[in-house]
Amino acid sequence: MAYLPTVPETLTRTTRKYLDREAIVYPRKNIRWTYEEFDERVTRFANALREAGVEKGDRVSLLMHNSAEFAVAVFGLLRAGAVFNPINYRLAPGEVAYILNDSASTVLLFEEVTRDTVEGALDQFDTVDRYLYVDDDVEATPKYAEGFHSAVANASTAPIEIDVKSEDQYAIMYTSGTTGRPKGVVHSHRDATYHNLMYLGRMDLDYEDVGVSAMPLYHNAELNCGLFPRVNLGAKTVVLHQFDAERVLEAVDNERATHLFVASRTWSELLAAAETMDDFDGGSLGLGVYGAAPMPPTLLERCMEVFCEDYATAYGMTEMGPCATFIRPDEVRDQLGSVGRAAPNHEVRIVEPTETECPADPVTPRDTVPQGDTGEIILQGPPMMSEYWNRPEKTGNAIRDGWFFTGDAGYFNEDGYLFLVDRIDDMIISGGENIYPTEIENVLYEHDAVEAAAVIGEEDDEWGERVVAYVVGDEDLDADTLDAFCRDHDGLADFKRPREYYVIEELPRNPSGKIQKFKLRESDADTATD
Ligand code: ATP
Ligand code: MG
Repeated sequence: MAYLPTVPETLTRTTRKYLDREAIVYPRKNIRWTYEEFDERVTRFANALREAGVEKGDRVSLLMHNSAEFAVAVFGLLRAGAVFNPINYRLAPGEVAYILNDSASTVLLFEEVTRDTVEGALDQFDTVDRYLYVDDDVEATPKYAEGFHSAVANASTAPIEIDVKSEDQYAIMYTSGTTGRPKGVVHSHRDATYHNLMYLGRMDLDYEDVGVSAMPLYHNAELNCGLFPRVNLGAKTVVLHQFDAERVLEAVDNERATHLFVASRTWSELLAAAETMDDFDGGSLGLGVYGAAPMPPTLLERCMEVFCEDYATAYGMTEMGPCATFIRPDEVRDQLGSVGRAAPNHEVRIVEPTETECPADPVTPRDTVPQGDTGEIILQGPPMMSEYWNRPEKTGNAIRDGWFFTGDAGYFNEDGYLFLVDRIDDMIISGGENIYPTEIENVLYEHDAVEAAAVIGEEDDEWGERVVAYVVGDEDLDADTLDAFCRDHDGLADFKRPREYYVIEELPRNPSGKIQKFKLRESDADTATD
């Protein structure tokens, strides 16, 4: 039977082809590794893990910032047969403990900058029996940990023979926790390799392309739309320690990056940095990719003026590996705001939000609701997760009859392009009308003094829920100004107009920048300043 390589086998195969091509550049430490050098480090890392007792199927967690070592660690632990469990380093110690225990990880790889987090919750880690400290400063190795850097440096470069099949688990990835506690998503090697080939095709990438990994590598999107596909091709990845707009633009120029993916709202930070840098050129950049959250059309237009003409985006989620739809650059302008069409071999349908399964008879080939109606987006595609780790009930709720029920609301326009509207749970029902907050937020964003806006429903005795807006903006922005703006706006029906406005300093966001509305709903509005 034809075989899809495992994730570490994609590196092996690329290395055989392109020994001398540059694989990883890490400006912070002046590292430049060819595929041959990278591959050798990966093998050493894998052998060092085997020597530390790691066996096939063991869950190895990673609490690390982006670095060249991160790239070695992920391929290394997979080559050793372990299952990869990346953890967001910005989580609080207790949240890290939750993920370590939930995934039953036995090994934790960490570094100096994440040491405080580890120490903050050591007594809450129930399953970890080895702490491996990856930094090169041996003196700094804490007592409870083993200095792993020298173990790797001295490890064998002998090839590792492990019977890992593409159907085997490669990762448990936790969701971003936008709507509640993160859920562990189980993916196989096959899911990742399939997804990555599909991504390369849709983005039209080539081995001569150069990409910058500026978003965190612990997240599915940067791995499966960045590092992994580029390794699969033999292209070059410039790894940045953390997102810093000026550094990103410097890396683009210095390494002649051809494509750049950052989360939607992060593009505005790049714009601001480009304005202050005298010598930013950006001439090498041919493709910008945005995603993870809605991209305000005005922001996209400014990016087209400043960085490059072509942009693409995808829509998806950790559970789908992540991309399930794509929109090509030549379509972005005509279908502004759309997330495109189903990815190759995928299907997207819209169903009534109350539907418990995919109706047998679609109203049109795409919709099971009348064309243009908003409903819940459901998906099918080869890289779909097998299950939520240890959560049979949640798995049963999410995957029904082979379809993944996303919890996202959307619709198809008459040309067959998918538009996201909101999360189903964020929908406001006021006086019997369904109101999707994004529509109101987009109106608020049109006000020059508004930097960020989140609209939620709050309980109301008369209407069931009433529309409330939380806004971040200029110092002199106040509720009256916003109210006058919305009353005058001809695109906003009166029943959708916010009844209260709170101008606050910051919106609660998860580390990918997504607004956590459940926190706004929980917070007492009285604590906000208007
Ligand atoms: P959790 O499931 O823990 O609440 P999360 O859903 O935010 O967190 P992810 O899997 O990282 O975790 O994100 C997937 C979600 O991100 C999607 O369900 C969708 O709501 C949103 N999303 C994905 N792509 C886009 C996009 N291109 N534009 C707007 N929103 C997007
Ligand atoms: Mg989700």
